[in-house]
Amino acid sequence: MFCYHCQEAKKNIACDTAGICGKKADVSSLHDLLTYTLKGLCFYAEKSTESRITDENIDKFIARALYSMVTNVNFDPAVFVQLIAETVQRREHLKRALIESGTVINGEEPVEAQWFYERIDQADFVKKGETVGIHADGELSGADVDLHAARELLIYAAKGLGALLENIQALGGFELEHYVFMHKAVAYTLQQERSLDELLAMNYRCGDQAILAMALLERINTEKFGQPAATAVHLDTWDKPGILVSGHDFQDLQDLLEQSAGSGIDIYTHGEMIAAHGYPAFKKYFNLVGNYGGAWQDQKTQFGKFQGPVLVTSNSLQQPKKGYTAKAYTSGMVGWPGVAHVEKRRIDKSKDFSKIIEQALQCEPPQALTEGSITVGYGRQALFELTDTIAAAIKSTAIKRIIVLIGCDGRHKERRYYTELVESLPADTLILTAGDTKYRFHQLDLGVINGIPRLLDAGQTQDFYAVMAFITHLQKTMQLGHINDLPISFNIAWYEQQTILMMLALFSLGVKNLRIGPTLPPFFTPEILQKLSDELAVKGIDTAENDVAAMLEGN
Ligand code: SF4
Repeated sequence: MFCYHCQEAKKNIACDTAGICGKKADVSSLHDLLTYTLKGLCFYAEKSTESRITDENIDKFIARALYSMVTNVNFDPAVFVQLIAETVQRREHLKRALIESGTVINGEEPVEAQWFYERIDQADFVKKGETVGIHADGELSGADVDLHAARELLIYAAKGLGALLENIQALGGFELEHYVFMHKAVAYTLQQERSLDELLAMNYRCGDQAILAMALLERINTEKFGQPAATAVHLDTWDKPGILVSGHDFQDLQDLLEQSAGSGIDIYTHGEMIAAHGYPAFKKYFNLVGNYGGAWQDQKTQFGKFQGPVLVTSNSLQQPKKGYTAKAYTSGMVGWPGVAHVEKRRIDKSKDFSKIIEQALQCEPPQALTEGSITVGYGRQALFELTDTIAAAIKSTAIKRIIVLIGCDGRHKERRYYTELVESLPADTLILTAGDTKYRFHQLDLGVINGIPRLLDAGQTQDFYAVMAFITHLQKTMQLGHINDLPISFNIAWYEQQTILMMLALFSLGVKNLRIGPTLPPFFTPEILQKLSDELAVKGIDTAENDVAAMLEGN
């Protein structure tokens, strides 16, 4: 096993015996084989696009399969065995369609597009996976190390893009251009002749594509659920039994709210699902009463304390503790062996959450962990409405600097840096957030500037789009040439592959002085980091005090 997908990789090098996240070596090996076979499928998917053959089912399958391997999504080996077999079957289907269309492919096929299984068998697949993973051919040296890392970066970006597209698919959305790009990006890793600069350029293009995909997701979300508006979300509990919902899937939340309305059950959000409270469509459900607990890494204690069932609709899932396994449910691509999984949505039908509702009715009401509130809902429109006031405050120096603090929370104690950073920022700084890093500092009383709260939260990690759309709008309103001309600093707290994609989006926009923490990605080799530093002054974090001083100086 060698996995360095995420920020919690052992010693910031790689997990080599078992994952800190709970991923076992056999699942890691199955991930490696699924990635390998998906490269082969994407080779044919790219060829199919060139021959004007498209298949929406295959496109959606590829996005879903890539997403299944994002950190903390699915830990069930049986799921990956099926995905690997289906990848090979769909590849052969596409290959046949290409041959029938007269496309000549003989002699071009990479080995990744040629592998067949003798039988669908977990042990066989694990064994094969061990021969195709990272470093399966031994340690790399010289320039190969950088090329290999840049290809891995591209695969992680594709997994992040798969996550975004699966989120869009769950809401009924589909736009072909994103899938065409996704095939191209994955198939690009097969082109051994590509230079480091070419591979990095392709990674930046993933960042461009991510912005377009996030824009589509925002459009679908706002068409379905309305424009988010500033909303104080209560953190205490009510007196009825409850269900706790985490993840990002608003469609699951809406189905559950519909089915539980009037049943005497209250619904609480956890982690990034808190963003739902800002949308008008969810405000009409009186049984959506508040948020319970904090970021994803607190789930082991908080899910255990919550008296009712918990539903995890997307990443991030941790191994459920014995105390709450019997009342834990997963849906979508999320899964853990032995944990109840909600059947997938049939066409034009809702998912069936009746078992969870029945179980909740047998439970005691939850006891509050804390009190107070968190304000969410500064989506694109709400931020745009503040543009003139913020522009005027910048001109009058009432706002000296905007700090964009986006991304994920996590287990490392070094993440205390983000609390210290916000505590150390002077009162004339405005803070924009998206993602669950906000749980590190939402409890601080940060005050207002000219009537505007100093902390404006756009929502989930992918609502980073709203933040960037606002910043671009502010730049144009202030008639500046580039967003770097604003008094602005970017700081990204990365954890998994979606935040890698956000990072690439910032690179593609030419944002300078981006800080990445709490540790730099282990797949940023010294050569890659040097290039990023030379081009964009990308850097890791220092102490909160030093970073605040540097950011206020514009560095
Ligand atoms: Fe380790 Fe992260 Fe890979 Fe899990 S996803 S095995 S924690 S590097």
